[in-house]
Amino acid sequence: MPSVADILIPLALDSAYSYAVPARLTLAVGDVVQIPLGPRETVGVVWGVRESPSGSNLRPVTGRIEVPPLAGPLRELVDWLARYTLAPKGSALAMALRLPDEAAQGETVRIGVRASGKAPARPTAARLKVLSVAADGTLRGKSALAKEAGVSLSVVDGLIDDGALEALALAPEPVALPPDPDHARVPLSEAQAQAVRDLIALMYPVPAGGAALSLADGLGSPHLPGEGQGEVCEISGEAPHLTPTLSVQEREAVAVPEAQGKLAVGAGDGRPRAPTILLEGVTGSGKTEVYFEAVADCVRRGRQALILMPEIALTAQFLDRFAERFGVRPATWHSGIGGKRRERIRAGVAAGEIAVVVGARSALFLPFTELGLIVVDEEHEAAYKQEDGVHYHARDMAVVRGRIENCPVVLASATPSLETRVNAERGRYRHIVLPERFGGRRLPDIKALDMRSDKPERGSFLAPVLVTAVRETLAEGNQALLFLNRRGYAPLTLCRACGHRYQCRNCSTWLVEHRFRKALVCHQCGYAERRPEACTECGTFDNLTPCGPGVERIAEEVTALFPDKRIIVLSSDFPGGAERLRAELQTVAEGGCDIVIGTQLVAKGHNFPHLTLVGVLDADIGLTSGDPRAAERTFQLLQQVTGRAGRGEKPGRALLQTYQPDHPVIAALLSGDAERFYEEEIAAREAAGLPPFGRLAALIVSATDRAVAEAHGQALARAAEPPEGVMVLGPAEAPLALVRGRYRFRLLVKTERAIDLQSYLRDWIARGPKVRGNVKVAIDVDPQSF
Ligand code: ADP
Ligand code: ZN
Repeated sequence: MPSVADILIPLALDSAYSYAVPARLTLAVGDVVQIPLGPRETVGVVWGVRESPSGSNLRPVTGRIEVPPLAGPLRELVDWLARYTLAPKGSALAMALRLPDEAAQGETVRIGVRASGKAPARPTAARLKVLSVAADGTLRGKSALAKEAGVSLSVVDGLIDDGALEALALAPEPVALPPDPDHARVPLSEAQAQAVRDLIALMYPVPAGGAALSLADGLGSPHLPGEGQGEVCEISGEAPHLTPTLSVQEREAVAVPEAQGKLAVGAGDGRPRAPTILLEGVTGSGKTEVYFEAVADCVRRGRQALILMPEIALTAQFLDRFAERFGVRPATWHSGIGGKRRERIRAGVAAGEIAVVVGARSALFLPFTELGLIVVDEEHEAAYKQEDGVHYHARDMAVVRGRIENCPVVLASATPSLETRVNAERGRYRHIVLPERFGGRRLPDIKALDMRSDKPERGSFLAPVLVTAVRETLAEGNQALLFLNRRGYAPLTLCRACGHRYQCRNCSTWLVEHRFRKALVCHQCGYAERRPEACTECGTFDNLTPCGPGVERIAEEVTALFPDKRIIVLSSDFPGGAERLRAELQTVAEGGCDIVIGTQLVAKGHNFPHLTLVGVLDADIGLTSGDPRAAERTFQLLQQVTGRAGRGEKPGRALLQTYQPDHPVIAALLSGDAERFYEEEIAAREAAGLPPFGRLAALIVSATDRAVAEAHGQALARAAEPPEGVMVLGPAEAPLALVRGRYRFRLLVKTERAIDLQSYLRDWIARGPKVRGNVKVAIDVDPQSF
């Protein structure tokens, strides 16, 4: 019987297509093949091979492509991703395949030259000089040789043409040298050392049905395909409440093989199930140092480690730190990496030659073969959620990949997401806590400035108390950070004469004035227009008024207040791109500036040892959005940004300008009582049946015609037929009702935890209205804002 291969194509297609396998080919699952698709040839991956009489009617596979096949665990990840997010399986495959992009900038092959032993035709002085340098036989780059000989490149070229120098391709520079786990071990504090012991004990529990494992096992990890309904952090049995750090019994259970037996719950293949571990510690507690030890341990065992970072473009400081500890920089992976280099990293990872990768969320789909550890740094970061194409959360997919590979996953954060906190509290994840800052440093002292009583002067955005605090800080020779999470000069421009407000023509957003660019800009779609001299509505001059502050406007005020101080404004608008921005962050870290004015870009991760004062200009900014996650997000962001103060030798303080000093978020920050905040938020979510206590998905229906989008949303709602335990809300205008010229309506699906959300959604979409014209329906499981 003819052989048929089911080929998954990395395009937005839901299922695999069948092709005949020609007799000359033997194909296996995972093979990458070339196939005809319509009039073109394209690439796909073999998802199944079977014998079928229908084979003779199918178009044949063109041939196999000589690249390593897509390994089983990655195929499993693709299946899982598509099932969980309801994205087309082909789109999920595209994430894992990422074939080198032809258009992407490749590396040019470097050419080296050396003497060939042949005499040159014309022995000029310049030529002889080159040959005398090249006589040592070393293979040098052409320009290096020209430089060393002090001649122009054309002399070297002439000698190559003559045959007196031979040109050879140089081996490309390695993408990453092997890290040395023992390069520069730092002495750890007692708390860190204990955390490292706990971490490593959890990561590598005693083999063969050990109790430690069974603990982890019984406490559950995500369900995988074929195992329950495919949820990220399902519990497979109620667990006793765990104290934040390991209890004595747990430590013993981890350490003493004999204490096992009773608790053991085999993990299928007899191997213990690797756990997910929340490494929680206040800012500056030394979490990085702790998980570096776990990475070192993993490398010593000859296995690979993946460290995920939310904003890879800005992690220069982190890479330096890694290099200090391990002697070399790790391989890095993000969307800015060019085609050739991408391929070499993929190949190095697949061959097991690259031991550590630091990457953005897409690094999760690299073909590791010996994955021994995944670290998700700043696991609470919203940047881990991909908001277009396949809507997936990299932290959750990291947990899934960890389960598939049976490798431990460490989630590190000072302010864990509510989901992760609940998972840790209920024992689904293990929990290690570093309660104090490293080296006895204190957390900054946080105070509120009640803007109702401590009013700024007219036209000013800084309360007098804050101005005084900045002055004191600078007088002591320290740095101050003024934080405002608003880019540009002013978030709204209006005409005082006619009241016209400047709005984007493609989106339902106000245009933000960027004074430096002399433009009004839409932060949603990037649309920009020149800031007009006269109002475009009523034509009068000198009546356009900026309303509210952005960082540029704060910079204007601060410059007037402190004319002789060095002031840096840091936001993603920073001119000169990521390179310049990195240099600027370095300048701040080295104390080369007095006042930093910045958006969330400066809030996270950076170590500014001279910074002792953080002023938050509008602590309430995120609290008014009506999104149930607003409190959590604001708490995390403000905790992060205030945590920038006092990380060096000197103690720090933070001042929050607020109109609601009694708001639970502000109160929690002031009292330093994060526990209470988490408790209250968790209770509120539970009462409302919101994640992680219920499940949630959003359907965004969009079209260029508002009525068409709304009608499609209503037709979907009529087809919803929600069973017991499922609630469908909407359609209502989406929070951003118009984006890039498309009108958006949103349906929210809220279900009880026991409901299989994915199956419900699939059935609903299938019986719902056909998508016509330019209508699009995007499904977002676990939306970040709701
Ligand atoms: P976190 O990741 O928890 O915010 P870090 O790991 O960045 O904390 O540590 C905070 C600061 O303390 C950093 O400047 C770091 O270099 C320093 N530090 C942490 N642990 C040690 C250690 N064992 N020895 C010396 N310095 C340390
Ligand atoms: Zn716009």
